[in-house]
Amino acid sequence: MRFTQPRLPYAPDALAPAISQETVDFHYGRHEATYIANLNKLVEDTEYADMPLEDIIRTVDGALFNNASQTWNHIFYFFQFSPSGRREPEGRLREKIDETFGSFDDFKKRMEEAGASLFGSGWVWLSTDEDGKLFLTQGQNADNPLRQGLKPILTFDVWEHAYYLDYQNMRASYLHALWDIIDWDIIERRYEA
Ligand code: MN
Repeated sequence: MRFTQPRLPYAPDALAPAISQETVDFHYGRHEATYIANLNKLVEDTEYADMPLEDIIRTVDGALFNNASQTWNHIFYFFQFSPSGRREPEGRLREKIDETFGSFDDFKKRMEEAGASLFGSGWVWLSTDEDGKLFLTQGQNADNPLRQGLKPILTFDVWEHAYYLDYQNMRASYLHALWDIIDWDIIERRYEA
């Protein structure tokens, strides 16, 4: 197996009530495990077997892209949470959020609206470019801002499998609850990297 699934740095029940243990077990334990298994099958004995995951995402289409991007996206999503992290951005990223969106509260509202208004399955992203500018974007299905030359720093998964066990059809409630588990130390490190 070339691509392996990293162990989460928190207990499976640590994100409750925002995300239940049952959802972590199904979403990370089963959905993500399936994407990684599919990805490994698709790259086996091909020119992609030694390609970095980000390069596959940037350059490939079809089933390989879908499974590569879903593999990356879910690790990125689950590793931005912690049960006891800092819940507000500070420093340079905070300044940039205030400058770009008006305030942290306005940014949160915009991110939730982007998630609620995305039709069907996909992801909402906060990304940055080489100049440190911020971009709030929606992507259908497995899409990833790496394909637009941006560097993602925060994402909300809006596929139904991300919230249906906990919130049924109430996607907006799920999106709102995610702020309770985002660790801004991690987001700031991604921004400054
Ligand atoms: Mn998902």
